[in-house]
Amino acid sequence: MYTLKFDIEKCHNCQTQACLTRCQHLDIDREVAQREIRKIARGEDSFILHDCLTCYACEEYCTMGNHPFYLIVEQQEALNIPPVPRPLIQRAVNLGVPFRGEPEIGEVHGPVLNMAAFSDLIGLIQGRLFEGLTVISTDDRKMFHYFCQLMYLHYARSSVIKERLPGVINTINRHKPTEVICFHDECYGTYTSYCPAVGIDVPFTPIHFFEFLHRRLTELKEAIRPVGFKVAYQRPCSSRLSPDKHHFVRDIFELIGARYVEREYVDENALCCAGAIQGQRREGSRKRAIEMQRKNINDMKKAGAEVCIFNCPACFQTLGSLLSAEDIKPMYMSDLCRLAIGEKPMEWR
Ligand code: SF4
Ligand code: SF4
Repeated sequence: MYTLKFDIEKCHNCQTQACLTRCQHLDIDREVAQREIRKIARGEDSFILHDCLTCYACEEYCTMGNHPFYLIVEQQEALNIPPVPRPLIQRAVNLGVPFRGEPEIGEVHGPVLNMAAFSDLIGLIQGRLFEGLTVISTDDRKMFHYFCQLMYLHYARSSVIKERLPGVINTINRHKPTEVICFHDECYGTYTSYCPAVGIDVPFTPIHFFEFLHRRLTELKEAIRPVGFKVAYQRPCSSRLSPDKHHFVRDIFELIGARYVEREYVDENALCCAGAIQGQRREGSRKRAIEMQRKNINDMKKAGAEVCIFNCPACFQTLGSLLSAEDIKPMYMSDLCRLAIGEKPMEWR
């Protein structure tokens, strides 16, 4: 069985307890943080297990390479403390089952782009950025065979992830990829953070989507014309699992002449879209989510953003219409990159 590598000794030697003292949602000082993280690691109950909003950020705040968020999720499941009402957990668990027969597997022996559970967004994969690239998971009836399953962190179901993920990895690997470019950065976080943390072997090389876009833009540099818009970026919760790739946001903006506005809620201080928070269906969840979204969007407006760039389709779905109502255009990063090389994405026409 796969076991989370969490080293309580690191917490004993930790000088910051940043995992919990930096939490944007729970008000915790160092003394409380030190006490509670040790309790959780020892398998005891803690208020953190009940109050966590599953924003993933403590995974990034821990600079000691421990895994405080994965630990919280494991202990919520072990102690039967559901972060979401139980019927909703069951419904979500049933949703991501790899079923409807086997996907057709073609051997590629080259790089592949994995759309995972976002087959319906295949329309984004057009133009010179993606020329010659093989896309897998294009059939939405079979997309759950390619779905990393990490969403179940929001539902305290590490057991479901561990049960299904090796089969998903095997399906992807049967395509014989040299590199797997992950359309969704939750997949990238799965293969580069979660899998090593619990000891699941990943036999292929995962590539972050923004790293791929940056690479392709560099190859197409001659075609770039500065886009000139003032842009904000909506950082998704899953990017907390790959903070070492976050610099590609600024790198891409610089390369294509997008003007990145100065905001309060950026980088480590970013606010998530609050979709998962609203989905917790607790007393006050909806109000809390609306307040967070308001703070986030007001911050973009104050900074003068004309366009909000998205990484994650779930964030786009949650915030897109709220942003449009404030005259801030929601847009995927890949579409912005396509504009920069003179192509017209569908939604821009
Ligand atoms: S999980 Fe990380 S940040 Fe938190 S107390 Fe332990 S070592 Fe420190
Ligand atoms: S996941 Fe977010 S809300 Fe939960 S303890 Fe970590 S930082 Fe706080």
